[in-house]
Amino acid sequence: MTLSCLHTHTIFCDGAADPETMCRAAFAKGFESIGFSSHAPAARKIGFETGWHLPEEKLPRYIEEVLEARKRWEGRLKVYLGLEVDHIRGICGPADKDIQELPLDYVIGAVHYVISPKNGELFSVDGPEKEFGPGLKLHFDNDGAALCAAYYGMYASLIRNGGCDILAHMDLIKKNNRSFRFFSPADPAYGTLLRETADLAAAASGPGGPANGSAAGAPEDRRPIVEVNTGGLIRGRTADCYPSPELLGLLWERNVPLTINADAHAPEHLGGGYERARQDMIRAGYSTMLLFGGRKNGRALWREEPL
Ligand SMILES: [Zn+2]
Ligand SMILES: [Zn+2]
Repeated sequence: MTLSCLHTHTIFCDGAADPETMCRAAFAKGFESIGFSSHAPAARKIGFETGWHLPEEKLPRYIEEVLEARKRWEGRLKVYLGLEVDHIRGICGPADKDIQELPLDYVIGAVHYVISPKNGELFSVDGPEKEFGPGLKLHFDNDGAALCAAYYGMYASLIRNGGCDILAHMDLIKKNNRSFRFFSPADPAYGTLLRETADLAAAASGPGGPANGSAAGAPEDRRPIVEVNTGGLIRGRTADCYPSPELLGLLWERNVPLTINADAHAPEHLGGGYERARQDMIRAGYSTMLLFGGRKNGRALWREEPL
């Protein structure tokens, strides 16, 4: 299997190493390419600082450093420049003009927040367990099904608004659901949410996509594919990849293409869980995956490779 990771964090946001160290690790592991996807600056849009987004003033240096690494590694490792962009309905998202105007090779669209139905505050669905429990009680009266509906509602909004090339960790909502303590994936209502999400992903990734890219004023033609993200698995937070085997099956039935990423926050994460991801994809019905080859005339170049 050709190795690549387009979902990589560094010390510019919440990662442990600098871009050069990550490049060295990727090269040592025989990777074809690495793409950097710092959490896009968000403070100005969401109204508060977090410990994990790229501070806005560091954005130019981040871009420079990745582009310098690209030059240094030319001919040995392909280095791509991206961002992981939070989508929060009515507040921010990958389709935002300031994101679309950056010289990025690709954009990863992600949902980490839902909006509290109680007080309109942002509630992080993948935060530490000690914050998640009280938040679920405060914002959703411990109603896990209501939180799932809010999460996939936000994800639907991400897909509809367009502006991204990769849909991140599609069922991230399970990160704090160890031992199925707040929702059951077997609940028919949860299955409906997964099917609706897979339907939207299929519509956006298919020949008719992007779902709403041009309406959002995006100059680029972005037709998103879905990542199989091993980050939760390799860090011991989930029992399987994002998306789960069940959701992978739904995506396969709808011909949604996939790529594999580690959501690497440290050099040792690169490539972690990839064999498991590959097996899950094969079991779901997939025989190929997509590998990124840069951007040309505004379009992401993907090539298909056997798993
Ligand atoms: Zn993320
Ligand atoms: Zn990430």
